[in-house]
Amino acid sequence: MPDALALNHLTNADLHCHSTVSDGGLAPAAVAARAAAAGVQLWALTDHDEIGGIAEARDAALRLGMAYLTGVEISVSFAGQVVHIVGLGFDETHPALREGLRSTRGGREPRAREMAEGLAQVGIHGAFEGALTFVGNPELISRTHFARWLVEAGHCRSVPEVFHKYLTEGKPGFVPHRWAALSDAVRWIRDAGGMAVIAHPARYKFTPNEELALLTDFVAHGGRGLEVVTGSHSAAEALKYAGVAKEFGLLASRGSDFHAPEESRTELGTLPDLSGDLDPVWVALADRVHFPH
Ligand code: AMP
Ligand code: MN
Ligand code: MN
Ligand code: MN
Repeated sequence: MPDALALNHLTNADLHCHSTVSDGGLAPAAVAARAAAAGVQLWALTDHDEIGGIAEARDAALRLGMAYLTGVEISVSFAGQVVHIVGLGFDETHPALREGLRSTRGGREPRAREMAEGLAQVGIHGAFEGALTFVGNPELISRTHFARWLVEAGHCRSVPEVFHKYLTEGKPGFVPHRWAALSDAVRWIRDAGGMAVIAHPARYKFTPNEELALLTDFVAHGGRGLEVVTGSHSAAEALKYAGVAKEFGLLASRGSDFHAPEESRTELGTLPDLSGDLDPVWVALADRVHFPH
């Protein structure tokens, strides 16, 4: 059973995944059970812009013998793209964090209605109502829910195909959206006692200068971590961002980004370990970890 001293030796941490509280396919307790069955020793649920699953996730994790960190994945607009900032180890009752997340969730419904209008113009009707039938949390309607409905309705064969044909920039169902500012997201996490981590850095299509600006601004705002090993990275990308973490003095994180059993590229707890020359986020977060009794 993990304790504070064991954090230095712990390898199977999974600090990025989703539940039905955002766009995942399983309830928080079911994600916890799947993580525990896969041998995860330290776990965080990181739903998009939402912390409503934390109580259930923490109870389940501790009951299953996993150490636990609070988590969230916040959507941020930066240099014309969406960047995801993972928050770990915060106090989920902190008012500024709760209010910030509530305000950022508020933009999702009008955006979803606009997405449905875009799809209607290419002959796909009823997408808003259809997507809603896949939503677990009405404040958190996301592109993933549209994608699942478009597959069910027979417009595409798979979720990635829907993104490619309909839901990415320039496609009929894509609606550019202004999310939180990077400085706000990092501040909400830090004010609540947590650590901000840049999620899946290789996923963004930044120029080298834009990426440098992201890293520099993130550090200037007090961000401290970088996801190095994630379901979104190839081995080469993990190696590249291990170097970036060292160069920028950032702590390294590891997380599958698991969403749903049949959809996710990566299963919980099955990624390669962080390389031994990196400083893991969880050692620095030792006093924020909940340990099973
Ligand atoms: P949203 O926050 O509504 O913009 O939706 C973003 C979510 O869509 C991400 O968190 C992923 O779960 C999913 N997603 C984004 N791009 C793709 C893709 N190319 N294929 C499958 N899922 C994707
Ligand atoms: Mn997602
Ligand atoms: Mn993400
Ligand atoms: Mn994610």
